[in-house]
Amino acid sequence: MKSTKPIKLTINTSNQWYNSKLDEDAFFWWLGKIPCVIECKGESERLHIFVNQDKTDKQNLSELMALFYRWQINIEQLKVLLNKNNENWFTNREQNIFYNEIFKNKLIVEPKQVNCFQCSKTFLIKYVTPKKSYSKKNNWEYWVNPEANNPNFWKDKEARKKDRYICNEDLLKFYYDKEIFWKTISDLKKRTRLRVYINERRYFT
Ligand SMILES: [Zn+2]
Repeated sequence: MKSTKPIKLTINTSNQWYNSKLDEDAFFWWLGKIPCVIECKGESERLHIFVNQDKTDKQNLSELMALFYRWQINIEQLKVLLNKNNENWFTNREQNIFYNEIFKNKLIVEPKQVNCFQCSKTFLIKYVTPKKSYSKKNNWEYWVNPEANNPNFWKDKEARKKDRYICNEDLLKFYYDKEIFWKTISDLKKRTRLRVYINERRYFT
């Protein structure tokens, strides 16, 4: 049987992570009990843990995560153990209780489902992680309402009630209907932005 290469995890041991001799013993006892751990090797100020990728199922990974969590070891590095066999559980924030600890620097926010006010079609709006908000490309008010340039507009529930969603296809139709386009979008910067957006074909992504 073909065996896959073990994955190496490294713990920095220059800052002593255990509180007593028995605490240290307990760590190694626990580590040794986890079936996906093949071996561990100390090397100056490092401890290397070798993990069998074929055994990184929910049960074994939960034990490893709980161990790292309990001894306050950098748990984010366990991301390297994510694979096709465990991803359904690993990336499910309801099921994996360590999800937020592991992915704290890269929280995945699901796209939101909306309806186009022109054609009623259902479509998805992506969450833009660096901006910490949903993309506004498909918000009709974003294009036509100068008040929407003020970030407070999007925080104001009452103001936002005016807003509607428009799908990419209808946005494109609108863009090509020049007469309406010029009449509707008074803000020159917004006109340029929509043009760039469509010309760069980011529109389709
Ligand atoms: Zn539409």
